[in-house]
Amino acid sequence: MEKEYLHRFYKKSHEEKIKALKNAAAISEEDYAALKDETLKLAPNVANQMIENYILNYEFPFGLAMNFVIDGNERLIPMVTEEPSVVAAASNSGKIVGLSGGFQTEMKERLMIAQIALKNVPNVESATKNIQKNEAKIIELANAAHPSILNYGGGARRVEVRFIPADKEFDTPEFLVVHLVVDTGEAMGANIVNTMAEAIAPFIVELTDGSSLMNILSNYATESIATAKCGIHPKYLATKTMDGEAVRDRIIEATQFALADPYRAVTHNKGIMNGIDAVLLATGNDWRAVEAGVHAYAAKSGQYRSLSRWTKDEDGNLVGELKLPISVGSVGGTLSIHPSAQFAYRLLGQPNANELSRILVAVGLAQNLSAVRALVTEGIQKGHMSLQARSLAIRVGATGENVERVAQLLQESEHMNSETAKNILDEISK
Ligand code: NDP
Repeated sequence: MEKEYLHRFYKKSHEEKIKALKNAAAISEEDYAALKDETLKLAPNVANQMIENYILNYEFPFGLAMNFVIDGNERLIPMVTEEPSVVAAASNSGKIVGLSGGFQTEMKERLMIAQIALKNVPNVESATKNIQKNEAKIIELANAAHPSILNYGGGARRVEVRFIPADKEFDTPEFLVVHLVVDTGEAMGANIVNTMAEAIAPFIVELTDGSSLMNILSNYATESIATAKCGIHPKYLATKTMDGEAVRDRIIEATQFALADPYRAVTHNKGIMNGIDAVLLATGNDWRAVEAGVHAYAAKSGQYRSLSRWTKDEDGNLVGELKLPISVGSVGGTLSIHPSAQFAYRLLGQPNANELSRILVAVGLAQNLSAVRALVTEGIQKGHMSLQARSLAIRVGATGENVERVAQLLQESEHMNSETAKNILDEISK
């Protein structure tokens, strides 16, 4: 990628932006033409096959977060979001972290879990032993139900048994749950593991004498943990009114607050997911699946807490770490049919599922840094409002160059609301 063409990308017109992407070799000639001709959209006849009772396509903006360096690779991050500040905030942190060497990421394994849930197991101990004794046979049955996964280097890997005792407070009975842990190759794997779970359930019932309740994947993807880390020299954190060390220390305190208080932690983690969801959407991945798993992970200590940790090292650098369960695919699902998602993949350089998971966590950490840094310095509204001003201008009917003019005047006004925006627009339209 020839980065100099992308300099001050946000200042360019739409036409200049796509030209710059081509000149920087960030996109192919074909994608340049497709962007120009707007042919990367979901066709109605395809959308009609995706869901029931389809009537129209509902569009969101697709933007690029700039300046990311992840494991030494420069990346443009595709983001689909309706929230005005997300892309700018991610780009800003991408730049700050990039100046200190970028993000380092890790994901050791990527396995999905299917649950076979049983009730009324008469003898939990002998049922457990029976399952353990028959692990190889269960794995064989699971693989036979979806044999093509073996061709992709995946397949069922192991079987685990969990006993869930009865709970008087919630009036729940005992359950015996069998986990089938599956390598789903490059797929997110929901369909693969669900097929396997249903196929092995009758044998599990036979082995346990229990009754089957359900057979379905768990979105609590604890065997697919991705980590992103970064270290930032405090001088890159300074603002006009605060030195870098002070900002660093306040970021650390803000995370301590989000570790201690669930009311803050929810908002803190929402900020992380602003970035992650935008990339999940852009790449056609199931953001509900990731959201559900991530929030359960945030509560794994028994209290909902911050997902990120910010500390300082002995040299005084701010050190960030984010560890999340991520279940995504680089094949299948929406990606196999949606032209914009396929374009997002090409933009990212066709990462495999492991790489994409690591990119997602790096983006989450960047988004978190931006939000917390703004909160502990000038507050979040200042940055938000400049982008919100443009939305307000459009909402009251500004078009073309008037959008920027109204937005500018709105920010200088005492009250930034639709009435003021309307008055400004009326004034400049005279
Ligand atoms: P798909 O069934 O769309 O894709 C998986 C298929 O891709 C495989 O069966 C395989 O089919 C093919 N494939 C091609 N190359 C590879 C490779 N290298 N590795 C693995 N498979 C490959 O999707 P998933 O099983 O991934 O399921 C994801 C979808 O399921 C998402 O759309 C999600 O929203 C949805 N879903 C989610 C649920 C949840 O999260 N709780 C529940 C149910 C559905 P072949 O062998 O034919 O080539």
